[in-house]
Amino acid sequence: MMNLIDYLPTIPDFPKPGIMFKDISPLLADKDAFSHAMSELHRLSLQTPFDYILGIESRGFIFASALAQISNKGLIMARKPNKLPTETYSEFYGLEYGQDYLEVQQNIIPQKAKILLMDDVLATGGTITAAASLVNKAGAQVAGALVLLEITELLGRKKLSEAHIETQSLIEI
Ligand code: AMP
Repeated sequence: MMNLIDYLPTIPDFPKPGIMFKDISPLLADKDAFSHAMSELHRLSLQTPFDYILGIESRGFIFASALAQISNKGLIMARKPNKLPTETYSEFYGLEYGQDYLEVQQNIIPQKAKILLMDDVLATGGTITAAASLVNKAGAQVAGALVLLEITELLGRKKLSEAHIETQSLIEI
């Protein structure tokens, strides 16, 4: 059995001192590791009924788009500010290393649709909580959240469970 954690090296003090950055590049560059990760993420996703996958810019897009294709579901983009060409819902959030906005287009999420939120890493949970708020603003439902890697000591799962977001991660560290 392939140990995916071997393909996710830790880069200390990037992008700021004190941050232990998990680099997904080696996993993506290895066809067997990436393929295995996507098969396993697909297996996990089958536990949650959903209509669409929402991918979070930037690294969340990689896994969300691959899973959307495997799952035969549509992909919705949650983007950084001022990237989307039509009216958006917008949500401010705090990060482990900064602050940002996420936006989705107002006309792209069907009301009442069940949306699976997807990102590469769950750290403090601020990003996925913001994505969930965007789904709620659109009048749709959060089916759950799925991530490749969860950094458990940052307690993102607790934050998401307080927001009633069912969370699954493929790898916990
Ligand atoms: P958070 O909102 O704190 O859960 O942070 C999750 C988002 O920030 C994800 O989009 C990750 O790509 C990124 N991120 C946060 N901490 C790390 C880390 N230690 N290594 C890699 N990415 C991270």
